[in-house]
Amino acid sequence: MSSGEMSTNISADSRMSASTQKLPVMPSSDIQDLICIGFGPASIAIGVALTDAQLLSPNVTFLERQPKFSWHSGMQLPGAKMQISFLKDMATPRNPHSHFTFINYLFAKGRLNNFINLSTFLPSRAEYEDYLRWVARYFEHRGVVRYGQEVVAVEPQKSSSGKVSHFNVTSRHVATGEVTTRSSKRVVVAVGGKARLPPQFPESHPQIVHSSQYSSRVHRTLPDSQRPYHIAVVGNGQSGAEIFNDLPSRFPNAKVTMIIKGAHLRPSDDSPFVNEVFDPDRVDGTFAQDPEVRAQAITLDKATNYGVVRLELLEHLYDTLYSQKVKNPDPSSWSLNIIPQRQVVSTANVDGKLLLKMKKVEGGKVVNGDDSELAVDAVFVATGYLRNAHEDILKQTRDLLPEAQREGTKFTVSRDYKVLYDESKIQEGAGVWLQGCNEKTHGLSDSLLSILAVRGGELVESMFGKELASTGVERVRAMI
Ligand code: NAP
Repeated sequence: MSSGEMSTNISADSRMSASTQKLPVMPSSDIQDLICIGFGPASIAIGVALTDAQLLSPNVTFLERQPKFSWHSGMQLPGAKMQISFLKDMATPRNPHSHFTFINYLFAKGRLNNFINLSTFLPSRAEYEDYLRWVARYFEHRGVVRYGQEVVAVEPQKSSSGKVSHFNVTSRHVATGEVTTRSSKRVVVAVGGKARLPPQFPESHPQIVHSSQYSSRVHRTLPDSQRPYHIAVVGNGQSGAEIFNDLPSRFPNAKVTMIIKGAHLRPSDDSPFVNEVFDPDRVDGTFAQDPEVRAQAITLDKATNYGVVRLELLEHLYDTLYSQKVKNPDPSSWSLNIIPQRQVVSTANVDGKLLLKMKKVEGGKVVNGDDSELAVDAVFVATGYLRNAHEDILKQTRDLLPEAQREGTKFTVSRDYKVLYDESKIQEGAGVWLQGCNEKTHGLSDSLLSILAVRGGELVESMFGKELASTGVERVRAMI
């Protein structure tokens, strides 16, 4: 049984004992050094930084709800490209010598020269997912990853001093329902975004699918690829545009209508000066800003990421729509349409169809008059993500917050992402760190891949001490 686990999980434990032989011997205790909740890119980057610093040990555990590693599997569409440079991988910006760079992945896979011949910084999303899986496998082989574990609670535990010395992390096995509690001095919550379905779209409706589940549900929702379905896509970000672009190849006889709030689809700004907003060294300045000034700056730079589409895809879509006009000027013959300045305000089931009731949007607001309806076979709702899953996971720790912050649901973090609990209640070194939900304090890069390599190193420094973290990196460098 691994340290700090209070229930048995025989297969996982035997895997662990077989695979941890290569790890440095660390003093074992009932309380783990670190539990990361979620094993997506943010946690993987922490694992990479720990490994680079020679601090990965059997006393580290990554808990992941999915049954195996996957990265945005619902949006793995044929031909979809990354939107950031492969150089912003899990290691390079922090430590280009690392084993875990994208270039080393290409080398290990025997594709380095072929990739160079592509002359691109933007690999396909499928290849990037394969890279992440290659990195993830390193940790799987060392027995520190537990899949199928949904964390349901984090509960503070006091030592004899009366201060919180560690946290009990309780998870439920998604397939078997078995509940396990592990204890750890440090907990990282890095659970990513959860699908944001606006209230006008009922949850668990067979004809309403959020973009995050597009690939896995599209053919279950619309089983006959030859049928002349009418399909709607809502949302004017990258996900909506990619789905709008993908549907005609899956359903050549379908009519596809995109419904957007704005007057037109807009390009993402990835020009070089603006792109500096994602540089890791910008986080210090952003964090230090007055909150109001920071909020204004984030709004100003929103078009780098939210509700915008890569120019290349916009040009392709425009070309496709134009070709329809060339073939036949009659709009009723067009299979692809964009309805601008409309918002779906309610839905109804009518004769097997889903009726979308829409209102006009002017100046960003829904206005009366000019209402319309559209009967469709399914709607794909690409309305983005919420980043508040940590609030529920951590609710049993709210009593540790300073009194003024205990009301409500929010958790405040310091620059090093550590939750600002009342220091008098927590033993030094113990704590909870939040990843990917700090855009308001740490800036627009917070939920993106761009800063993960550097941030992973910052987390290791914050959790294990600067000296230990940097000594490890120096040791690795000296070995190269
Ligand atoms: P997003 O950028 O947040 O866009 C969601 C869109 O939905 C926004 O335009 C939003 O408009 C709109 N919306 C929200 N509520 C709505 C409602 N009730 N009715 C109609 N529209 C509504 O989400 P996303 O497109 O999923 O992108 C999320 C992130 O994933 C981005 O960083 C994106 O770049 C990334 N992504 C990357 C790839 C790739 O690498 N190939 C593919 C897909 C996504 P308002 O803002 O006006 O509310």
